[in-house]
Amino acid sequence: MADLVVVGGGPAGVAAALEGARLGAQVVLVERGLLGGVCVHAGCIPSAAYHTAAGFLHELRRAGAAGIDAGPPRLVWERVQAWASKTSETVASGLRARLEALPQGRVVGRRKNGGAICSRSGAAYRVAWR
Ligand SMILES: Cc1cc2nc3c(=O)[nH]c(=O)nc-3n(C[C@H](O)[C@H](O)[C@H](O)COP(=O)(O)OP(=O)(O)OC[C@H]3O[C@@H](n4cnc5c(N)ncnc54)[C@H](O)[C@@H]3O)c2cc1C
Repeated sequence: MADLVVVGGGPAGVAAALEGARLGAQVVLVERGLLGGVCVHAGCIPSAAYHTAAGFLHELRRAGAAGIDAGPPRLVWERVQAWASKTSETVASGLRARLEALPQGRVVGRRKNGGAICSRSGAAYRVAWR
């Protein structure tokens, strides 16, 4: 039995699950895709990574005017994408760690679809990946 079932492990769902658990509720969080939702995997985080990369390129291009000769900067799109993906994974890992840090939280398994369940049974919290 759960006091609170949260559908979706985006920023809103994770916040609701953590707050529910903090208040002592037995919480189940279900995510059908990737923990972190749009924000972490397609929105805020990758956008910020691309924005940062564009900023680096812009600064390098104008650095010569300040006497810094770094050669002509070259954008390698695949590496920018890889960096953005790694950034998303780092943030998602942080969310996962916060769920796992709930009292007695632990990862007990994971299926292809990456769904997540965070629950508490009696005094024990459990984080499961299904
Ligand atoms: C390009 C872009 C840039 C953005 N930049 C910013 C920014 O800089 N700052 C900012 O504050 N916001 C930004 N946003 C908005 C931000 O991404 C959203 O506000 C945020 O993701 C909403 O969070 P959410 O948890 O409500 O929903 P979502 O992030 O959409 O998460 C919903 C989750 O629910 C899951 N789900 C849905 N249905 C089910 C189901 N039936 N069963 C199980 N799971 C389900 C989905 O898989 C998903 O993981 C940006 C969005 C985009 C697209």
